[in-house]
Amino acid sequence: MPPERESLEFDVLFVGAGPAGLAGSIHLANLVAAHNSAAGDGGRKIPELNIAVIEKAAEVGAHGISGGVMDPRGMAELMPDWRAQGCPVESEVTGDDVMFLTAGAALKFPIVPPPLQNHGNFVVSLGNVTRWMAEQAEKRGINVFPGFPAQKPLLDGNKLLGVRCADTGMGRNGEPKGQYQPGPDLLSKVTALCEGPRGTITKILDKQLGLSQGCDPQVYATGVKEVWEMPAGRVRKGYVMHTMGYPLPSDTFGGGFVYGMDGDRWSVGMVTGLDYSNPNTNPHQMLQLMKTHPTVKAMLEGGKMVSYGAKAIPEGGLFAMPRMYFDGGLLCGDSGSWLNGMRLKGIHLGIKSGMLAAETIFEGILKGDFSAATLSSYDRRFKGSWAHSELYGVRNFHQGFRNGLFAGLANSGLQMFTGGGFGDQHNSTPGHAHMKRLRDYPAGRAPVQEFKPDGVLTFDRLTDVFSSGTTHEEDQPCHLVVLDTEVCATKCREEYGNPCQNFCPAQVYEMEENPVRHRLELKINASNCVHCKTCDIMDPYQIIDWTTPEGGGGPDYKNL
Ligand code: SF4
Repeated sequence: MPPERESLEFDVLFVGAGPAGLAGSIHLANLVAAHNSAAGDGGRKIPELNIAVIEKAAEVGAHGISGGVMDPRGMAELMPDWRAQGCPVESEVTGDDVMFLTAGAALKFPIVPPPLQNHGNFVVSLGNVTRWMAEQAEKRGINVFPGFPAQKPLLDGNKLLGVRCADTGMGRNGEPKGQYQPGPDLLSKVTALCEGPRGTITKILDKQLGLSQGCDPQVYATGVKEVWEMPAGRVRKGYVMHTMGYPLPSDTFGGGFVYGMDGDRWSVGMVTGLDYSNPNTNPHQMLQLMKTHPTVKAMLEGGKMVSYGAKAIPEGGLFAMPRMYFDGGLLCGDSGSWLNGMRLKGIHLGIKSGMLAAETIFEGILKGDFSAATLSSYDRRFKGSWAHSELYGVRNFHQGFRNGLFAGLANSGLQMFTGGGFGDQHNSTPGHAHMKRLRDYPAGRAPVQEFKPDGVLTFDRLTDVFSSGTTHEEDQPCHLVVLDTEVCATKCREEYGNPCQNFCPAQVYEMEENPVRHRLELKINASNCVHCKTCDIMDPYQIIDWTTPEGGGGPDYKNL
């Protein structure tokens, strides 16, 4: 007899222990404590709540990755004494530069554009910040459960009742093994989805509840990052450098960064817009090429790469924000597109979204009602907050780049001085639809940037994946569900040349010769997956479904 599926009940469930989920849980516990203390002995107190935060990683922070420069506004609102309480930061920002790179030269901007000025901000490791936030949540009696991957929504009609977690102990063909354990059902009066970009439950609910109806399609970028340990004295702690230009072609959105961390370490990364046209675009390779630029190379000379990771970034802004409330649930953080693309910052907005969700849930607790009608006040709170003003001011940012880098820069300048530009510019095309077919290029060949890693400054993807600490149980159903692999072997091969081989920053997808059928067929190295979600987003046929693997699988990011 296989073991029975367990059911656990909570008052409030946060799915995802990133900045949004943890901030939401902490703020909710604070609100309840303040309410009960104000109620005194004779007042109406709220009975002790069972609040839980679940996380798919083996430990909180292991899947956390950001550039990362944190605007402290959100954190300071959540916890005014956050620094005294020991929130880990690498450094306060000590200087900013913006560079335009050509293949051999660097042009420093004479002044740093205001959105990229970082005075008063902090270089952080998001993983370390969330580890500390989880401790703060636990001090308030919140249950933080790592190793719980939410796989399916539990619904009664259109009302979210909670989530079902992924089973463990299933073999690769879906058969239960000796240690099979059905994933528990986590039931909750209200559930806040804080899953990060392209969240699993969010994606299912979006389709079922039409959350994105009437919105611009979301556009994403893929951020790829390494941490480098340097000889003592070689890193300017708190220094922030942003780059534009090389190696990205001018029709591809994105840019690079180098941030000075504590302990003589550089955080070096590259963001590549997932609305590029060339199917040979390779976000991992973009970072490797950027490091070969003389300016960046000189900074890294003599150092050692010690950590690697990748993540999708929701860049669509205000017009791509879905409806963020429904019966029994809310969307927060990257799951709801709370990211300022112009500033390349989302941690402060993620925290703010969690806090506004907590205030909305608190209202629901007082009313005893978590219907969409009650939870819709989340939207009103957002519209009355600084988060909305900030996102409104950059509402046209990504759209301004649709005609390339130089038009985008001109547009950004205009938007800076006019509070977002004149009128509203909408985007009607999802990023993957910008990819050109091979037949659109002369002789049917899309340009390829030749590149051979040297193993010292530049690396292949497998070396980098090793530095991400990624592991998965090998004998489990493949969590990357390709709905029709025949498309890969035929139509996609012919039309796009199998771009999954290029866009995945962990080399999960390979086309391998089938000696019987005499053709190339898809091979999926699922255990390399760093959970960035790029494939789910950028596949031109939209037939890759990223699903949650067994709990605890995935990267083990250090200081990312
Ligand atoms: Fe990212 Fe998909 Fe590759 Fe995993 S398989 S690393 S989610 S692109």
